[in-house]
Amino acid sequence: MIRVNQIKKTFDDLQVLKGMSLDVQEGEVIVMIGPSGSGKTTFLRSINALEIPEDGAVTIGDIKIDYSQKPSENLLRSLRSQIGMVFQNFNLFPHLTVLENVMEGLVTVQRISKHKAREIAADFLEKVGLKEKINEFPSALSGGQQQRVAIARALATNPKVILFDEPTSALDVELVSEVLKVMKKLASEGMTMIIVTHEINFAKEVADKIVFIDNGHILDILKPDELNNKSNSERLQKFLNLIE
Ligand code: ADP
Repeated sequence: MIRVNQIKKTFDDLQVLKGMSLDVQEGEVIVMIGPSGSGKTTFLRSINALEIPEDGAVTIGDIKIDYSQKPSENLLRSLRSQIGMVFQNFNLFPHLTVLENVMEGLVTVQRISKHKAREIAADFLEKVGLKEKINEFPSALSGGQQQRVAIARALATNPKVILFDEPTSALDVELVSEVLKVMKKLASEGMTMIIVTHEINFAKEVADKIVFIDNGHILDILKPDELNNKSNSERLQKFLNLIE
């Protein structure tokens, strides 16, 4: 359903993505791990065209963007409309209530009526366990609750895939599990997800594939059960030592 083919991205003189490719099937959960600065965030942001790669191609369903030519704004917009994104720092609008945060994209981008958007937003907020909080402002919520609002917001637009960029790394330890729990539930319901995280135990539990990134390259792609094999687990350990 998603094909990323040989994308390259350079900032100033630094080539951050050196030709990265990844295929993702519908319903798959991909976890990406790698040292800080290896290009994980840039890779995610390139999938939904928050960064524009200088070469390569991204296909989602029937939308294909070939970056060897300059893509039209229209095409970029269609691509982005198929993708949800959850950021490390939640990126909620502080001046909008929880409900309005989830409604915003539905009303302004998808042009759904306010009445209908309110219903959809409330349903997804209930799904992430925040029915009681819909009229609060983000500042009144814990980090874990804010991140669950961000997940509801991503879900509400009915995307083909949700990208998660270190969704738990800004959270206090005791709040991590409530967010991972919501993500596990989505995974079990068949949501297609690409997740950058350092939570290796979570990765082993929910990932269909674990993708190891270093220095703008994909080094390896393993299934969680392949990590039980001794040589793979030694490789993993070496890799995790790089990350810590
Ligand atoms: P990771 O997510 O693996 O930590 P990033 O994708 O955030 O890695 O960053 C990879 C490299 O690209 C880093 O050296 C970072 O400083 C650089 N980089 C990321 N975004 C920008 C930008 N907008 N301008 C310049 N350099 C950037």
